[in-house]
Amino acid sequence: MIQQNISLKPFNTFGIEQSAKYFVSFSSIDMLKSALVDPETQGLEKLVLGGGSNILLTKPFNGLILKNNLRGISIQKEDEKFVWVKSMAGEGWHDFVMFAIQNDFGGIENLSLIPGNVGAAPMQNIGAYGVEIKDVFHELEAMDIETGDEVRFTKKRCQFGYRESIFKRAFKNKYIITSVTLKLTKQHTLKTSYGAIKDELKNITHPNIKDVSDAVIRIRQSKLPDPKEIGNSGSFFKNPVIPMAQFKLLQEKFPEIANYPVNKHFVKIAAGWLIDQAGWKGKTIDNYGVHKNQALVLVNYGGASGENIYQLSEDILNDIKSKYGIELEREVNIY
Ligand code: FAD
Ligand code: NAP
Repeated sequence: MIQQNISLKPFNTFGIEQSAKYFVSFSSIDMLKSALVDPETQGLEKLVLGGGSNILLTKPFNGLILKNNLRGISIQKEDEKFVWVKSMAGEGWHDFVMFAIQNDFGGIENLSLIPGNVGAAPMQNIGAYGVEIKDVFHELEAMDIETGDEVRFTKKRCQFGYRESIFKRAFKNKYIITSVTLKLTKQHTLKTSYGAIKDELKNITHPNIKDVSDAVIRIRQSKLPDPKEIGNSGSFFKNPVIPMAQFKLLQEKFPEIANYPVNKHFVKIAAGWLIDQAGWKGKTIDNYGVHKNQALVLVNYGGASGENIYQLSEDILNDIKSKYGIELEREVNIY
């Protein structure tokens, strides 16, 4: 069941060549439990992998990779307004969104076409076009990697933030999320505040959730590099959220700075704008670089190493810090 010395290249969307000492794919909770107590891998580091679309592999992995293949979607309960839908963690996120659209369950249409698995979605509270998974999150089930105990996490316990949760911080690599239950709507409130969505929908008098999903899919396909063609892990950096006073000073120096107020005290700066203005957009070094249309996306044109990409991210971080005084934070998980 447990394989040895496996190439991880097919398992990360950056297309980075790295090896794993041990590798197992699990499609049931029992398989997962036996993998966790296997004598050969006791005491070794364990890493759960979904679609590999939010990781950068910088060195060989000397422990056990647990590739999540838990499948199944079920309706837990419903009332007139809401439906509670549980998805096992190994389902593809976009497949799950399509299941919701086909059944006219609303709330995640703006999150169409995000790569990866359902189980990784709470990890960074996936978000796009003004919606985050936390907006519809009900609960998740997870297994403690050390003890094998099965635990439930309510929304409060997940400590969701902007591309953040407790699983990215205090509980990183401590739990394997096995299922996620979302509370979806039967009567929908569409979120079309992002300019690109409004534009796409301007000729539809009464758009529905499928129209929003289709619009998001069209926009994403026109702007983002497809990892099947160019290796990438989506946005490499988070958009920084800075205090209003710091923003005012920056705006005096850079009146065009792309910004979105979060509340009275904080402002979100588009990291893509900073990287673009600093001259990095489209920059290519050998076989890797910064995407030509999306300054937030670092790309591997083929054969680049994880260290190459990491060093590029370091160079960008330092340059942004010196030009704007802003410390960018990596969104992608580095291993
Ligand atoms: P992986 O890369 O396999 O894992 C990511 C992290 O989560 C790792 O630390 C891993 O150990 C952990 N993990 C994975 N599964 C589990 C589990 N079951 N239990 C516990 N921990 C787990 N993200 C957004 O938020 N919004 C976007 O719009 C978006 N667009 C993207 C577009 C492109 C083209 C690409 C390549 C990426 C994009 N992403 C986006 C990033 C990425 O798709 C998401 O973060 C996604 O949720 C990652 O899922 P995954 O299964 O591939 O996770
Ligand atoms: P975009 O529409 O060109 O906008 C650039 C940035 O400005 C985005 O990062 C977005 O922040 C922010 N923004 C735009 N309109 C906004 C509004 N009305 N209110 C608040 N913030 C606004 O962005 P894009 O790069 O094409 O991406 C579109 C969406 O997909 C974004 O939500 C982005 O986060 C998401 N996406 C994420 C990834 C990833 O890997 N994480 C990859 C591709 C796309 P936010 O990022 O906070 O939304």
